[in-house]
Amino acid sequence: MRLAAASDAQARFDGERWRTRCLHCRAHLELRADGEPLGATSLEHVVPQAWFGRREADAMAARVGYDPDDPRNLALACRGCNQAKGTTHDARGPGDARALDVVTALLDRRLARWREPDA
Ligand SMILES: [Zn+2]
Repeated sequence: MRLAAASDAQARFDGERWRTRCLHCRAHLELRADGEPLGATSLEHVVPQAWFGRREADAMAARVGYDPDDPRNLALACRGCNQAKGTTHDARGPGDARALDVVTALLDRRLARWREPDA
């Protein structure tokens, strides 16, 4: 989870904690220095793991190197948003036009926040 924070251009590290914003609702999120989530912070697969290998999601999968666990596909989100996405858009699958639109927009947002993590 530390890598998701380190590669998030909106995340700030004050020597003790990472502070960033939920990818969806921009709620404040915090992680410990070692990446341990605090409060409602959770790790989200922007393109759901189950969508990899699906033809409709191929263009999105390509943008994260066809690897669900590529850091470009990992985002910090509050637990509520993460669960809501999982039970709606993710569950509908990439064959659903609305789900495809929402996940594409989220991936755009994640990639706009990308920064190369420090080694
Ligand atoms: Zn949220």
